[in-house]
Amino acid sequence: MLITVGQLLHGPVGERTTDGAVLVQEGKIAAVGARAAVAAQAPPSVTRLDFPGATLLPGLIDGHVHLSLDAGPEPVTTLLASDETSLLEAMAKRAAQLLDSGVTTVRDLGDRAASAVQLRRSIAAGRLPGPRILAAVAPLTPPGGHCWFFGGEVEGEREIRDMVQRNAAAGADVIKVMASGGHITEGGAAMWESQFSTGLLAATVAEARQCGLPVAAHAHSTESIAAATAAGVNTIEHCLWLDGADGVDRRPDVARTMADQGISVCGTLCGHDWRTKLEKEGEAATRSFYSRLSWLDELGVSLITGTDAGIPQAAFDDYVSMLELYAWLGFPAERVIELATVGSARALGLSGATGRLLPGLDADLVVVDGDPRTDLAALRTVRLVMTRGEPRTVHGPRERA
Ligand SMILES: [Zn+2]
Repeated sequence: MLITVGQLLHGPVGERTTDGAVLVQEGKIAAVGARAAVAAQAPPSVTRLDFPGATLLPGLIDGHVHLSLDAGPEPVTTLLASDETSLLEAMAKRAAQLLDSGVTTVRDLGDRAASAVQLRRSIAAGRLPGPRILAAVAPLTPPGGHCWFFGGEVEGEREIRDMVQRNAAAGADVIKVMASGGHITEGGAAMWESQFSTGLLAATVAEARQCGLPVAAHAHSTESIAAATAAGVNTIEHCLWLDGADGVDRRPDVARTMADQGISVCGTLCGHDWRTKLEKEGEAATRSFYSRLSWLDELGVSLITGTDAGIPQAAFDDYVSMLELYAWLGFPAERVIELATVGSARALGLSGATGRLLPGLDADLVVVDGDPRTDLAALRTVRLVMTRGEPRTVHGPRERA
Protein backbone atom coordinates (compact mmCIF):
# COMPACT_ATOMS: atom_id res chain seq x y z
CA MET A 1 0.00 0.00 0.00
CA LEU A 2 1.26 3.46 -0.92
CA ILE A 3 -0.01 6.41 1.12
CA THR A 4 0.74 9.91 -0.13
CA VAL A 5 0.19 13.08 1.91
CA GLY A 6 0.92 16.82 2.04
CA GLN A 7 3.47 16.29 4.79
CA LEU A 8 5.10 13.59 6.88
CA LEU A 9 6.02 14.18 10.51
CA HIS A 10 8.56 11.47 11.26
CA GLY A 11 8.28 11.68 15.05
CA PRO A 12 11.33 13.63 16.33
CA VAL A 13 11.00 17.43 16.40
CA GLY A 14 12.06 18.98 13.10
CA GLU A 15 12.01 15.75 11.07
CA ARG A 16 9.50 16.55 8.37
CA THR A 17 9.00 15.88 4.68
CA THR A 18 6.59 17.89 2.55
CA ASP A 19 4.83 16.11 -0.32
CA GLY A 20 5.70 12.74 1.19
CA ALA A 21 4.74 9.10 0.97
CA VAL A 22 4.96 5.87 2.93
CA LEU A 23 5.15 2.45 1.33
CA VAL A 24 3.75 -0.33 3.51
CA GLN A 25 4.59 -3.96 2.86
CA GLU A 26 3.81 -6.97 5.01
CA GLY A 27 2.82 -4.86 7.97
CA LYS A 28 6.06 -2.86 7.97
CA ILE A 29 7.17 0.52 6.72
CA ALA A 30 9.11 -0.44 3.58
CA ALA A 31 10.02 3.08 2.48
CA VAL A 32 9.32 6.62 3.63
CA GLY A 33 10.25 10.05 2.28
CA ALA A 34 9.66 12.27 -0.73
CA ARG A 35 6.67 11.13 -2.75
CA ALA A 36 8.41 10.53 -6.08
CA ALA A 37 11.28 8.56 -4.55
CA VAL A 38 8.98 6.33 -2.50
CA ALA A 39 6.49 5.84 -5.34
CA ALA A 40 9.35 4.68 -7.54
CA GLN A 41 9.97 1.79 -5.14
CA ALA A 42 6.34 0.63 -5.14
CA PRO A 43 5.28 -2.32 -7.31
CA PRO A 44 2.99 -1.31 -10.20
CA SER A 45 0.02 -3.15 -8.65
CA VAL A 46 0.25 -1.27 -5.35
CA THR A 47 -2.95 0.00 -3.70
CA ARG A 48 -2.68 3.75 -3.44
CA LEU A 49 -4.32 6.15 -1.02
CA ASP A 50 -3.86 9.87 -1.59
CA PHE A 51 -4.53 12.45 1.10
CA PRO A 52 -3.49 15.81 -0.36
CA GLY A 53 -3.17 18.51 2.30
CA ALA A 54 -3.17 15.93 5.09
CA THR A 55 -0.43 15.02 7.57
CA LEU A 56 0.85 11.51 8.21
CA LEU A 57 2.58 10.79 11.50
CA PRO A 58 3.47 7.75 13.61
CA GLY A 59 0.53 6.20 15.47
CA LEU A 60 -0.05 7.84 18.86
CA ILE A 61 0.72 6.20 22.19
CA ASP A 62 -1.43 6.15 25.31
CA GLY A 63 0.84 4.91 28.06
CA HIS A 64 -1.81 4.49 30.75
CA VAL A 65 -5.31 3.11 30.19
CA HIS A 66 -7.69 0.71 31.90
CA LEU A 67 -9.66 -1.04 29.18
CA SER A 68 -11.65 -2.94 31.80
CA LEU A 69 -13.08 0.26 33.35
CA ASP A 70 -15.92 2.17 31.65
CA ALA A 71 -15.03 5.83 32.41
CA GLY A 72 -18.48 6.24 34.02
CA PRO A 73 -19.16 7.57 37.52
CA GLU A 74 -18.83 4.09 39.14
CA PRO A 75 -16.35 2.10 37.04
CA VAL A 76 -15.50 -0.31 39.86
CA THR A 77 -19.15 -1.19 40.54
CA THR A 78 -19.69 -1.78 36.83
CA LEU A 79 -16.59 -3.97 36.63
CA LEU A 80 -17.59 -6.06 39.64
CA ALA A 81 -21.05 -6.57 38.16
CA SER A 82 -19.87 -7.70 34.72
CA ASP A 83 -19.07 -11.26 33.66
CA GLU A 84 -16.05 -12.14 31.53
CA THR A 85 -17.93 -12.20 28.21
CA SER A 86 -19.60 -8.82 28.58
CA LEU A 87 -16.38 -7.35 29.95
CA LEU A 88 -14.37 -8.51 26.93
CA GLU A 89 -16.98 -7.11 24.54
CA ALA A 90 -16.88 -3.74 26.30
CA MET A 91 -13.07 -3.76 26.27
CA ALA A 92 -13.04 -4.47 22.53
CA LYS A 93 -15.32 -1.49 21.95
CA ARG A 94 -13.03 0.78 23.98
CA ALA A 95 -9.98 -0.49 22.11
CA ALA A 96 -11.67 0.40 18.81
CA GLN A 97 -12.48 3.89 20.14
CA LEU A 98 -8.83 4.45 20.99
CA LEU A 99 -7.80 3.24 17.55
CA ASP A 100 -10.24 5.59 15.82
CA SER A 101 -8.66 8.44 17.80
CA GLY A 102 -5.31 7.65 16.17
CA VAL A 103 -3.93 5.66 19.11
CA THR A 104 -2.05 2.58 17.86
CA THR A 105 -0.34 1.54 21.11
CA VAL A 106 -1.69 1.43 24.65
CA ARG A 107 -0.32 0.21 27.93
CA ASP A 108 -3.12 -1.24 30.03
CA LEU A 109 -2.12 -0.76 33.65
CA GLY A 110 -4.56 -2.94 35.51
CA ASP A 111 -7.33 -5.38 34.79
CA ARG A 112 -8.98 -8.50 36.12
CA ALA A 113 -8.27 -12.11 35.13
CA ALA A 114 -5.82 -11.07 32.41
CA SER A 115 -8.66 -9.95 30.14
CA ALA A 116 -6.36 -7.41 28.43
CA VAL A 117 -4.08 -10.30 27.45
CA GLN A 118 -7.03 -12.08 25.83
CA LEU A 119 -7.95 -8.92 23.97
CA ARG A 120 -4.31 -8.36 22.99
CA ARG A 121 -4.23 -11.84 21.44
CA SER A 122 -7.46 -11.30 19.50
CA ILE A 123 -6.17 -7.98 18.14
CA ALA A 124 -2.74 -9.36 17.28
CA ALA A 125 -4.38 -12.26 15.42
CA GLY A 126 -6.48 -9.80 13.40
CA ARG A 127 -9.81 -11.00 14.82
CA LEU A 128 -10.59 -7.59 16.31
CA PRO A 129 -9.51 -4.04 15.44
CA GLY A 130 -7.50 -2.28 18.11
CA PRO A 131 -4.18 -0.85 19.15
CA ARG A 132 -1.11 -2.83 20.18
CA ILE A 133 -1.59 -3.61 23.87
CA LEU A 134 1.01 -3.86 26.60
CA ALA A 135 -0.80 -5.44 29.54
CA ALA A 136 -0.01 -5.35 33.24
CA VAL A 137 -2.92 -7.63 34.30
CA ALA A 138 -3.41 -7.56 38.12
CA PRO A 139 -1.52 -4.71 39.84
CA LEU A 140 0.24 -5.65 43.07
CA THR A 141 -1.41 -4.08 46.09
CA PRO A 142 -1.69 -4.89 49.81
CA PRO A 143 -4.84 -6.70 51.05
CA GLY A 144 -7.75 -4.25 50.64
CA GLY A 145 -5.34 -1.73 49.07
CA HIS A 146 -5.67 0.49 46.01
CA CYS A 147 -7.41 -1.45 43.21
CA TRP A 148 -7.54 -4.74 45.17
CA PHE A 149 -10.55 -5.69 43.02
CA PHE A 150 -8.25 -6.50 40.09
CA GLY A 151 -7.07 -9.53 42.06
CA GLY A 152 -3.46 -8.62 42.82
CA GLU A 153 -3.51 -8.54 46.64
CA VAL A 154 -0.16 -9.48 48.19
CA GLU A 155 1.38 -9.37 51.65
CA GLY A 156 5.11 -9.74 52.19
CA GLU A 157 7.97 -10.60 49.85
CA ARG A 158 7.01 -14.24 49.17
CA GLU A 159 3.54 -13.31 47.93
CA ILE A 160 4.94 -10.41 45.91
CA ARG A 161 7.36 -12.68 44.08
CA ASP A 162 4.62 -15.27 43.50
CA MET A 163 2.24 -12.66 42.09
CA VAL A 164 4.91 -11.34 39.72
CA GLN A 165 5.47 -14.91 38.51
CA ARG A 166 1.74 -15.48 38.17
CA ASN A 167 1.27 -12.27 36.16
CA ALA A 168 4.19 -13.18 33.91
CA ALA A 169 2.72 -16.64 33.33
CA ALA A 170 -0.64 -15.02 32.50
CA GLY A 171 1.06 -13.09 29.69
CA ALA A 172 1.85 -9.73 31.31
CA ASP A 173 4.13 -7.34 29.39
CA VAL A 174 4.80 -5.20 32.45
CA ILE A 175 4.40 -5.51 36.21
CA LYS A 176 2.34 -2.81 37.89
CA VAL A 177 2.73 -2.08 41.57
CA MET A 178 0.58 0.31 43.59
CA ALA A 179 3.31 2.07 45.58
CA SER A 180 0.84 4.56 47.08
CA GLY A 181 -2.90 4.70 47.70
CA GLY A 182 -5.27 6.09 45.09
CA HIS A 183 -8.63 7.71 44.78
CA ILE A 184 -10.94 5.14 43.25
CA THR A 185 -10.68 2.56 46.05
CA GLU A 186 -12.89 2.94 49.09
CA GLY A 187 -11.24 2.05 52.36
CA GLY A 188 -7.72 1.72 50.95
CA ALA A 189 -4.67 3.85 51.76
CA ALA A 190 -4.98 7.58 51.05
CA MET A 191 -3.26 8.95 47.94
CA TRP A 192 -0.40 10.40 49.99
CA GLU A 193 0.22 7.18 51.95
CA SER A 194 2.72 4.52 50.90
CA GLN A 195 1.56 0.95 50.41
CA PHE A 196 4.97 -0.77 50.11
CA SER A 197 8.43 -0.22 51.61
CA THR A 198 11.43 0.46 49.38
CA GLY A 199 12.61 -3.09 50.15
CA LEU A 200 9.38 -4.67 48.94
CA LEU A 201 9.38 -2.49 45.82
CA ALA A 202 12.97 -3.62 45.18
CA ALA A 203 11.86 -7.26 45.53
CA THR A 204 9.12 -6.57 42.97
CA VAL A 205 11.66 -5.12 40.56
CA ALA A 206 14.10 -8.01 41.12
CA GLU A 207 11.45 -10.65 40.47
CA ALA A 208 10.15 -8.79 37.40
CA ARG A 209 13.70 -8.60 36.00
CA GLN A 210 13.93 -12.38 36.43
CA CYS A 211 10.88 -12.61 34.18
CA GLY A 212 12.31 -10.08 31.73
CA LEU A 213 9.59 -7.54 32.54
CA PRO A 214 9.69 -3.81 33.35
CA VAL A 215 7.91 -2.36 36.39
CA ALA A 216 5.42 0.51 36.45
CA ALA A 217 4.82 2.07 39.87
CA HIS A 218 1.66 3.96 40.67
CA ALA A 219 2.91 6.70 43.02
CA HIS A 220 1.11 9.87 44.08
CA SER A 221 3.16 10.80 47.13
CA THR A 222 6.71 12.10 47.39
CA GLU A 223 7.58 9.24 49.75
CA SER A 224 6.31 6.59 47.33
CA ILE A 225 7.97 8.29 44.34
CA ALA A 226 11.30 8.34 46.20
CA ALA A 227 10.88 4.69 47.24
CA ALA A 228 9.98 3.55 43.71
CA THR A 229 12.95 5.47 42.31
CA ALA A 230 15.32 3.93 44.85
CA ALA A 231 13.90 0.49 44.00
CA GLY A 232 14.73 1.03 40.32
CA VAL A 233 11.30 0.81 38.69
CA ASN A 234 11.04 1.71 34.99
CA THR A 235 8.15 4.15 35.05
CA ILE A 236 6.31 6.20 37.64
CA GLU A 237 2.60 6.79 37.10
CA HIS A 238 0.83 10.04 38.13
CA CYS A 239 3.81 11.45 40.10
CA LEU A 240 1.93 14.14 42.02
CA TRP A 241 4.58 14.62 44.75
CA LEU A 242 1.92 14.73 47.49
CA ASP A 243 3.20 15.41 50.98
CA GLY A 244 0.41 14.71 53.44
CA ALA A 245 -3.21 15.61 52.79
CA ASP A 246 -2.60 19.14 51.51
CA GLY A 247 1.09 19.54 50.83
CA VAL A 248 3.22 19.16 47.72
CA ASP A 249 6.95 18.44 47.91
CA ARG A 250 8.76 18.13 44.58
CA ARG A 251 12.19 16.73 45.25
CA PRO A 252 14.77 17.74 42.63
CA ASP A 253 17.27 15.16 43.94
CA VAL A 254 14.78 12.35 43.29
CA ALA A 255 13.88 13.77 39.86
CA ARG A 256 17.58 13.95 38.93
CA THR A 257 18.02 10.32 39.92
CA MET A 258 15.04 9.46 37.74
CA ALA A 259 16.61 11.31 34.81
CA ASP A 260 20.00 9.64 35.38
CA GLN A 261 18.54 6.15 35.62
CA GLY A 262 16.10 6.52 32.75
CA ILE A 263 12.99 6.27 34.92
CA SER A 264 10.15 7.84 32.95
CA VAL A 265 6.98 9.50 34.20
CA CYS A 266 3.51 8.99 32.81
CA GLY A 267 1.45 12.01 33.83
CA THR A 268 -2.02 10.39 33.37
CA LEU A 269 -3.88 13.49 32.28
CA CYS A 270 -7.56 13.45 31.58
CA GLY A 271 -8.85 16.21 29.31
CA HIS A 272 -12.07 16.61 31.24
CA ASP A 273 -10.20 17.06 34.55
CA TRP A 274 -7.83 19.79 33.49
CA ARG A 275 -10.48 21.81 31.67
CA THR A 276 -12.85 21.54 34.66
CA LYS A 277 -10.08 22.53 37.05
CA LEU A 278 -9.23 25.53 34.89
CA GLU A 279 -12.86 26.60 34.82
CA LYS A 280 -13.46 26.16 38.55
CA GLU A 281 -10.12 27.02 40.15
CA GLY A 282 -8.60 29.37 37.62
CA GLU A 283 -5.33 29.55 35.76
CA ALA A 284 -2.85 29.89 38.64
CA ALA A 285 -4.10 26.83 40.57
CA THR A 286 -4.33 24.72 37.43
CA ARG A 287 -0.86 25.71 36.30
CA SER A 288 0.69 25.00 39.68
CA PHE A 289 -0.94 21.54 39.79
CA TYR A 290 0.17 20.44 36.31
CA SER A 291 3.49 22.30 36.13
CA ARG A 292 5.18 19.22 37.62
CA LEU A 293 5.35 17.97 34.03
CA SER A 294 7.30 20.99 32.75
CA TRP A 295 9.45 20.79 35.88
CA LEU A 296 10.27 17.10 35.30
CA ASP A 297 10.93 17.82 31.64
CA GLU A 298 13.36 20.61 32.52
CA LEU A 299 15.21 18.23 34.84
CA GLY A 300 15.60 15.74 32.00
CA VAL A 301 13.02 13.15 33.06
CA SER A 302 11.41 11.57 30.02
CA LEU A 303 7.64 11.82 29.83
CA ILE A 304 5.11 9.27 28.61
CA THR A 305 1.77 10.51 27.29
CA GLY A 306 -1.21 8.85 29.00
CA THR A 307 -4.84 9.51 29.82
CA ASP A 308 -5.82 6.97 32.53
CA ALA A 309 -8.82 6.26 30.26
CA GLY A 310 -11.43 4.19 32.10
CA ILE A 311 -11.44 6.01 35.42
CA PRO A 312 -14.36 8.45 35.97
CA GLN A 313 -14.53 11.10 33.20
CA ALA A 314 -11.41 9.79 31.42
CA ALA A 315 -12.94 8.89 28.06
CA PHE A 316 -11.47 6.53 25.49
CA ASP A 317 -12.13 8.91 22.59
CA ASP A 318 -10.61 12.09 24.00
CA TYR A 319 -6.88 11.43 23.64
CA VAL A 320 -6.13 14.80 22.03
CA SER A 321 -7.38 16.79 25.06
CA MET A 322 -4.54 15.23 27.05
CA LEU A 323 -2.02 16.45 24.46
CA GLU A 324 -3.63 19.89 24.51
CA LEU A 325 -2.81 20.17 28.21
CA TYR A 326 0.89 19.92 27.34
CA ALA A 327 0.40 22.69 24.77
CA TRP A 328 -1.41 24.79 27.38
CA LEU A 329 1.55 24.26 29.72
CA GLY A 330 3.81 25.72 27.05
CA PHE A 331 5.19 22.66 25.25
CA PRO A 332 5.46 23.45 21.50
CA ALA A 333 3.05 21.33 19.43
CA GLU A 334 5.89 19.53 17.64
CA ARG A 335 7.40 18.59 20.98
CA VAL A 336 4.04 17.22 22.15
CA ILE A 337 3.85 15.08 19.00
CA GLU A 338 7.36 13.86 19.71
CA LEU A 339 6.34 12.87 23.27
CA ALA A 340 3.24 11.06 22.00
CA THR A 341 5.17 9.04 19.44
CA VAL A 342 8.93 8.52 19.50
CA GLY A 343 9.35 9.65 23.12
CA SER A 344 6.72 7.38 24.64
CA ALA A 345 7.82 4.47 22.42
CA ARG A 346 11.38 4.81 23.74
CA ALA A 347 10.25 5.03 27.36
CA LEU A 348 8.10 1.93 26.94
CA GLY A 349 10.90 -0.09 25.30
CA LEU A 350 9.18 -0.09 21.90
CA SER A 351 11.70 1.90 19.84
CA GLY A 352 12.44 -1.13 17.69
CA ALA A 353 8.79 -1.58 16.78
CA THR A 354 6.89 1.71 16.64
CA GLY A 355 6.85 5.44 17.36
CA ARG A 356 8.47 6.88 14.24
CA LEU A 357 8.45 6.73 10.47
CA LEU A 358 11.42 4.53 9.79
CA PRO A 359 11.82 1.65 7.31
CA GLY A 360 11.64 -1.67 9.12
CA LEU A 361 9.37 -0.52 11.92
CA ASP A 362 5.77 -1.70 12.14
CA ALA A 363 3.40 0.34 9.99
CA ASP A 364 1.61 2.10 12.88
CA LEU A 365 0.45 5.30 11.22
CA VAL A 366 -2.19 7.98 11.41
CA VAL A 367 -3.33 10.42 8.74
CA VAL A 368 -5.07 13.62 9.88
CA ASP A 369 -6.43 16.68 8.11
CA GLY A 370 -4.44 19.88 8.33
CA ASP A 371 -1.25 20.56 10.23
CA PRO A 372 -1.02 19.51 13.91
CA ARG A 373 2.20 21.54 14.23
CA THR A 374 0.14 24.72 14.16
CA ASP A 375 -2.83 23.31 16.08
CA LEU A 376 -2.97 19.96 17.88
CA ALA A 377 -6.74 19.96 17.31
CA ALA A 378 -5.93 18.76 13.78
CA LEU A 379 -5.27 15.37 15.41
CA ARG A 380 -9.03 15.08 15.96
CA THR A 381 -9.73 14.83 12.24
CA VAL A 382 -8.40 11.33 11.73
CA ARG A 383 -8.73 10.10 8.15
CA LEU A 384 -6.89 6.81 8.34
CA VAL A 385 -5.32 4.76 11.12
CA MET A 386 -3.05 1.84 10.45
CA THR A 387 -1.77 -0.71 12.97
CA ARG A 388 0.93 -3.11 11.87
CA GLY A 389 -0.11 -2.48 8.27
CA GLU A 390 -3.85 -3.05 8.89
CA PRO A 391 -5.68 0.03 7.61
CA ARG A 392 -8.81 1.36 9.28
CA THR A 393 -10.52 4.17 7.44
CA VAL A 394 -12.08 6.75 9.69
CA HIS A 395 -13.04 9.51 7.27
CA GLY A 396 -11.68 8.19 4.00
CA PRO A 397 -9.33 9.55 1.35
CA ARG A 398 -10.47 12.59 -0.54
CA GLU A 399 -9.53 11.17 -3.89
CA ARG A 400 -7.96 8.09 -5.39
CA ALA A 401 -5.28 8.18 -8.03
ZN1 LIG B 1 -4.55 4.18 36.28
